Amino acid sequence: MANETIYDVLIAGQGAAGYAAAMYAARYQMRPVVFGAVFGGETATGGLIENYPGYPEIDGFELMMKFREHAQKYEVPIVDEDAASIVRRSDCFELTTDEGNVYLGASVILAVGRERRTLGLEHEAEWTGRGVSYCSTCDAPLHRGNVVGVVGGGDSAVKGAALLSKYARQVYVIYRQDSFTRPEPVNLRQLEAADNVTTLFNTNVVGLLGDDGLDGVVLDRPHAGSNELAMHGLFIEIGADPRVGLAEQLGVELNELNEVRVDKHGNTNVDGVFAAGDLTDASGDLKQTITAAASGALAATAAYEYVSRHGNRCAMHAAGYSIAAAD
Ligand SMILES: Cc1cc2nc3c(=O)[nH]c(=O)nc-3n(C[C@H](O)[C@H](O)[C@H](O)COP(=O)(O)OP(=O)(O)OC[C@H]3O[C@@H](n4cnc5c(N)ncnc54)[C@H](O)[C@@H]3O)c2cc1C
Repeated sequence: MANETIYDVLIAGQGAAGYAAAMYAARYQMRPVVFGAVFGGETATGGLIENYPGYPEIDGFELMMKFREHAQKYEVPIVDEDAASIVRRSDCFELTTDEGNVYLGASVILAVGRERRTLGLEHEAEWTGRGVSYCSTCDAPLHRGNVVGVVGGGDSAVKGAALLSKYARQVYVIYRQDSFTRPEPVNLRQLEAADNVTTLFNTNVVGLLGDDGLDGVVLDRPHAGSNELAMHGLFIEIGADPRVGLAEQLGVELNELNEVRVDKHGNTNVDGVFAAGDLTDASGDLKQTITAAASGALAATAAYEYVSRHGNRCAMHAAGYSIAAAD
């Protein structure tokens, strides 16, 4: 079905970057619309947030509710469907949702974040929620008194393991390299202070054990004389890949890390297409809620300047415009 409104900006992503972009765009008196099947992005499932200014401690879900409500205060429409495709047709961008609904806009902000990496092991997908998890901060309280493992050695893994050490009886951190990779010092200090954490460097998890859920893992080198390690929780914290499908459809340039390349204003190389948040190289390695929100504000400002400069040519041409993909 084709939506009749011609928007000034189509925003893909209901995370910190998308909501911030929507709020700024609305305050510029633009007509934004936000898309996304999943509320709140990674912040919403990130557990306790202690580094968002103004909130010494706030649950990520609650913080994202505030972001969403702030955008809705300006009556920004939010469509709880993912953008399946975005193509440019003449002066319009045509966004088709995963439910086949079609929306038109004069510009686009991509804020779709990143996809968590998996180990690709047998049973990994099937046992997600039955011992296998990708979010320590979400699932740590489920493992009170258990033995658990964390795969990874970056900041998310270190932060997750430090948190898990407060609930679990024993935490194994299993990392393929011989030292951690740039953890935040505060998280590393917390991990080192815990007396129930054992770190296995130069080690990989190569198999999952269990019948109907996780009972243990297989290591590629022995620990304490065995390649099998019993545990009831395995937290996979090995990074994430930018979701670049929509960017690629639009011909947007990526950097060597497969992130959308933006300038300091949030412009991509494609006229009328802007990007923000963890999808992009906007804030280098510092991929956080605050930097995602800031880059969303910048992208909305750039989109506003673009639409002000050109006018909403999509709306101007809409009368004679036919939507090929619409039912
Ligand atoms: C476990 C964990 C803990 C964290 N803890 C902290 C912390 O304490 N402090 C901090 O500042 N940061 C923290 N972060 C980082 C922070 O959550 C991210 O930097 C932030 O969420 C990035 O926001 P974003 O809007 O760019 O992307 P995201 O939050 O990933 O949001 C992107 C949204 O786009 C959606 N989407 C995907 N594809 C489509 C599509 N085709 N169409 C529409 N929508 C789509 C996704 O479902 C998602 O909802 C943590 C991250 C993790 C994983």
